[in-house]
Amino acid sequence: MTTVAVRPHTIEKAVEAIDARRDEVVALTRELVGIPTVNPPGEHYQACAELVGERLRRRGFEISYVRAEGSPGDSDRYPRFNVVARHEGAAPGPCVHFNSHIDVVVPGEGWTVDPFAGVVKDGRVYGRGTCDMKGGLAASIIAVEALIDSGIDLPGTLEISGTADEESGGYGGVAYLAERGWFSKPRVDHVIIPEPLNVDRVCIGHRGVWWAEIETKGRIAHGSMPFLGDSAIRHMGALMERLEHELGPKLASRRSEMPVVPDGARTSTLNINSIHGGQPEPKEGLPAPIVADSCRLVVDRRFLIEEPLDQVKGEFVEILEDLARDRPGFRYALRELFAVEPTLADRDGPVAAATARAIQKVLGRPAQFICSPGTYDQKHVDRIGKLKDCIAYGPGVLDLAHQPDEWVGIDDMLDSAKVMTLAAMTLLTGAA
Ligand SMILES: [Zn+2]
Repeated sequence: MTTVAVRPHTIEKAVEAIDARRDEVVALTRELVGIPTVNPPGEHYQACAELVGERLRRRGFEISYVRAEGSPGDSDRYPRFNVVARHEGAAPGPCVHFNSHIDVVVPGEGWTVDPFAGVVKDGRVYGRGTCDMKGGLAASIIAVEALIDSGIDLPGTLEISGTADEESGGYGGVAYLAERGWFSKPRVDHVIIPEPLNVDRVCIGHRGVWWAEIETKGRIAHGSMPFLGDSAIRHMGALMERLEHELGPKLASRRSEMPVVPDGARTSTLNINSIHGGQPEPKEGLPAPIVADSCRLVVDRRFLIEEPLDQVKGEFVEILEDLARDRPGFRYALRELFAVEPTLADRDGPVAAATARAIQKVLGRPAQFICSPGTYDQKHVDRIGKLKDCIAYGPGVLDLAHQPDEWVGIDDMLDSAKVMTLAAMTLLTGAA
């Protein structure tokens, strides 16, 4: 790595300049929140991508809009638009990329403010997506603009992207771009994803996910003579009993070496996502008296880096095969819906180390290294882009994501913007 001398005084000035952008970061966050990019179905992506793209075009960035044609959910009504903005420096060098998803989840019930008005109150901006993660996107834009405006002759390239569909798996967003080389060397070297993980924490990875649908089968009969049929729901009950008393305790006893937060997520977990058995319930009148011939269960299994995916699946198959052998009439089908391997970046790698050092400098306390209980777009950067030097770092409290009255702290946005500016400077110049 080449090292470019930058005077500490100039660096300090660039960081301090972020405080003067307080109103700007608030205004930008409010503008972004004002575009209701609700996913599903994936509304208004183009308007949001253009808000980011046109702003950065005026700052000298080269702008690309990429529609993820043919990706799940992409249609002329709901096109999957992504924006990538690129700013080349004075000399060749590495590329630091800030990636934010522009989609938000549905507001849901329980709001005391308009979820898309960007209400500013008590040092916070309220609204759907403020925390997850338009506040992080705004902070990264302010950080990069401050760096460019500092007048420091920085080598290398700064990139900012706003991508679709993170909330539904990222296939029309980062995965689509990664498959086309947008998240690989030599184009990109270091990636920071400003997901809401708190201003003093560096997130280096996440647990794995395995979703499956398990169906038990029965035989239909009249509900007054259940002995003439075979209830799929009772078979499912037998399976759930085994999951509860056998698999559950086993999973709870496994603890990861990965620093997953909150602590409860440091063990392996299983959520029964949904269960459907028998005939659909009629909206009016009484249900038909019928023995259920089918029952379906969706499991959401989050697993540790220490657990191979084969083992995760195998534990379900073993219980199901046991039941098929021992329980008269037990028949089942297992269908895998979705699988993501755990991801872990090197905490001593360039981007994690530079960000941790910047946190110490800006906040005056040591950074905490953590891993996320759920997945986010880092998986695509890692697996498809083959880029290991990727972390999540951004303002906002993770617990507020997807909740009513979601908010992001304005001071937190400014602090994280300072950290991003410093980290980017370190990565571009090679200075420690
Ligand atoms: Zn998010």
